[in-house]
Amino acid sequence: MAEAWTAEALLRDRRLRVTPQRQGVLQLFLTEPGRHWTADQIRSQLLGGMPGLARGTTYKVLEELVRSRICEEIAAPGGISLYGLRLAPHQHFVCSRCRRWFDVEADGLEHVVLVAPPPGAHVVEAAVVFHGLCGPCREAMNAASDAPTSDEETTR
Ligand SMILES: [Zn+2]
Ligand SMILES: [Zn+2]
Repeated sequence: MAEAWTAEALLRDRRLRVTPQRQGVLQLFLTEPGRHWTADQIRSQLLGGMPGLARGTTYKVLEELVRSRICEEIAAPGGISLYGLRLAPHQHFVCSRCRRWFDVEADGLEHVVLVAPPPGAHVVEAAVVFHGLCGPCREAMNAASDAPTSDEETTR
């Protein structure tokens, strides 16, 4: 990351009160800036340092961070919400095997034209999700399949 943000600096920058819960969530996100977490994953990570952290509180804190645009909420298939940092505009690549979401930069989005918007609709922003296999999953799939690769065929 270009900017070395701290949880406290992020909260102050967005004029949010610094609370241990907000700090805890952001500190967790800052340890792996490109990672997206479910609310339950976040809570179980924080429970060590905050034994009383309720599920409802976790959701409330996440909601506040999303509303102030420090964090993003992704509606993943299956009704799952994923949360992550939103320090810069970005798009997503999702691996169809391990279901991990990666932050990616995409170019040319401003050229996308909505041909027939729903009547009366006003577009606020466009988001693109790229689907495919991540590197480790491609390797695992290749290793699992017995089919010879083109390289092997040429050496026969
Ligand atoms: Zn994968
Ligand atoms: Zn993201």
